[in-house]
Amino acid sequence: MPKNVKHCSFCGRSDAEVEFMILGQDGVQICNECAIQAAEIVRESTRKTESTHLNIEKIPKPKEIKQYLDQYVIGQEEAKKYLSVAVYNHYKRLIQDTGEDEIEIEKSNIIMVGPTGTGKTLLARTIAKKLHVPFTIVDATVFTEAGYVGEDVESILTRLLQVADYDVKAAEKGIVFIDEIDKIARKSDNPSITRDVSGEGVQQGLLKLLEGTVVNVPPQGGRKHPEQKMIPVNTQNILFICGGAFDGIEKKIAARLNTRVVGYGASEENKLIDRNNLLQYIAPQDLKSFGLIPEIIGRLPILTYLEPLDRDALRRILTEPKNSIIKQYVKLFKMDHIELIFEDEVLDYIVDKAVEFKLGARGLRSITETIMMDSMYEMPSKKSSKWVVTLSYAQSKIEKTNAHRLKIA
Ligand code: ADP
Repeated sequence: MPKNVKHCSFCGRSDAEVEFMILGQDGVQICNECAIQAAEIVRESTRKTESTHLNIEKIPKPKEIKQYLDQYVIGQEEAKKYLSVAVYNHYKRLIQDTGEDEIEIEKSNIIMVGPTGTGKTLLARTIAKKLHVPFTIVDATVFTEAGYVGEDVESILTRLLQVADYDVKAAEKGIVFIDEIDKIARKSDNPSITRDVSGEGVQQGLLKLLEGTVVNVPPQGGRKHPEQKMIPVNTQNILFICGGAFDGIEKKIAARLNTRVVGYGASEENKLIDRNNLLQYIAPQDLKSFGLIPEIIGRLPILTYLEPLDRDALRRILTEPKNSIIKQYVKLFKMDHIELIFEDEVLDYIVDKAVEFKLGARGLRSITETIMMDSMYEMPSKKSSKWVVTLSYAQSKIEKTNAHRLKIA
């Protein structure tokens, strides 16, 4: 054997047979392939230790989860509280021992109802970050009943598997956020009139997943075909969080409360109802009137709502969250050693524009981006160490821009 040929101390292959070697002490070496395998073994064993060590002391308490959410999401007190409790109970469910008392804590999937852009996705995403579990967002509008053009509901699990790096055990404890769940509502009150491929059929498909079942998942997604090897995934411990705007559901709530959205003449009891915010009275039967089938509603026992964001909330969203838009711009400039300062009036102006263009929280970013674009282009080449954005500067940038460009942002 030639003298300077190196061999992997694990698999024995020479350096000609592998891509490269990592040298250790006393002539010990490991090839790139064995190193990957070793890393995988370490990962696997840490994972096992982590899940067996999950105990009640280690689970974050609802108050702790809520405090964490407070750092990223402004307002939405009720939704945060409901989510925190649901997630805490979900964890308890994962560690429960059903042997002795035969009591089984059931899964508590969640449904959040609230106008678009009020923080539903942000809440779900932030929760997943706190819990370090695989998390995926899917849009219910892409689903159609099996056999029709569109995606099968099973594709939800393909995505979860992908984000979990195909670690089935991890995916089985993941969180799935299903957005726009209202779009699969039954279109007509009479379920038997026509085939409703994107409505009730999809709800039926989804039901199985929410209930907890073993689903054969195509690992690469797409349509099932016989050659593809399926991966069985048990959905029993997957937490589903659904969100939807449910446009017009206020009317159903109002009808149930026997009140009118506008106008007087309500009975004494109805006078106590805050008609400006009917969502706070939402109940499962309103989801049914909207077109969700009762079985689905039954599998989403935690129902909560999000408030529309008022000026005050929008103003806070600009600066307060840990990851707020303004903090992000300050950081961008700091990397060029420039201290970036926004005058208070500029922040109020950004909020004014978001309200004026009916853009909600999503608009805050596009408006700020429009104001900052020129200075982000110019400043890094200048020698200044400070940049103060004034109201007149901000106004001039917005006035120059076609309002339509902001609207579609
Ligand atoms: P939804 O899912 O309700 O349509 P998102 O959660 O996607 O809305 O919100 C859109 C964006 O607006 C988020 O990325 C976030 O920056 C901002 N946002 C919305 N609501 C809030 C909130 N309550 N607190 C902080 N930021 C928010």
